[in-house]
Amino acid sequence: MSFWKKAAISAFALAALPLASANAQTYPSRPITMVVPFAAGGPTDTVARLVSESMSRTLGQQIVVENVGGAGGTRGAGQVAKAAPDGYTILMHHIGHATAASLYRKLPYNVLTDFETVGLVTDVPMTLIGKSGLEPKNITELVAYVKDKKDAVIYGNAGVGSASHLCGMLFMSAIGTQVTTVPYQGTGPAMNDLVGGQIDLLCDQTTNTTGQIKAGKVKAYGVTTANRLKSMPDLPTLQEGGLKDFQVAVWHGIYVPKGTPADVIAKLNAALKTALQDPKVISRFADLGTEPVSQDRATPEVHKAFVAAEVAKWKPIIEAAGVYAD
Ligand code: ASP
Repeated sequence: MSFWKKAAISAFALAALPLASANAQTYPSRPITMVVPFAAGGPTDTVARLVSESMSRTLGQQIVVENVGGAGGTRGAGQVAKAAPDGYTILMHHIGHATAASLYRKLPYNVLTDFETVGLVTDVPMTLIGKSGLEPKNITELVAYVKDKKDAVIYGNAGVGSASHLCGMLFMSAIGTQVTTVPYQGTGPAMNDLVGGQIDLLCDQTTNTTGQIKAGKVKAYGVTTANRLKSMPDLPTLQEGGLKDFQVAVWHGIYVPKGTPADVIAKLNAALKTALQDPKVISRFADLGTEPVSQDRATPEVHKAFVAAEVAKWKPIIEAAGVYAD
């Protein structure tokens, strides 16, 4: 590069600096869009609306939730990757952000380098549930039933890369039987079809399933975590039901496009940390079978290292399952 070109670039960078920090000082001066990469009414949407409402109060600006479902969460994530890095477009995503890195052959963004992390939000257990009229009464009977009926069993998910897809993939590989899968834009609409009896099975976050299980609208077969839930102590774990080593929970985090100024991220992070201590958020999370992450996990640094570790953790599991999307 010529001397003059270099000099021109550094002059431009210097001139842009005060502007960037001036913007950060007044940030946020208009509403912020929080992209949820799944349909409204689902579990990621529920977490996003609860947390964003509290963050809005701290930031003094409204956070508007925009549902951009499709392609297992990668459509919404792609939209945020391409957005202006100014803190006005943020993403609430979950474990699928990390698994998509291995599940998709051609992802239009890089999970690790096209985003900045703001902080982890919550870890949510999942439950394997069936339509209320499904014959099997427990997980042992369900496994025998699925092995017998095979692809006549219809399992709903939120597309390749979603948490419900991952849970279904683990379930099918644990029992060595494939069922028919139907993708939705999120598990909100999948839950409607399960309650309506159009599909047979779903595995989804407790933030979406707790109310339906307690109301008797769906049958619960087990929880995906190693321990039983405080909110549903009678529900066995899938491990207790004989699915050895079955363990998955859905973590959520907030992201902004790469290049978002550090002081903007710091403001978002402070608002997130406040939200995670908000008694209303804590009590609603508890009703839904979850709790906020500890304050030391709600940081950009811990979140960044965690996503990288999750990408590495799921890669060999996904490769062994041989499931890919284009
Ligand atoms: N729970 C969904 C999933 O399977 C997504 C959602 O609608 O929140 O990833």
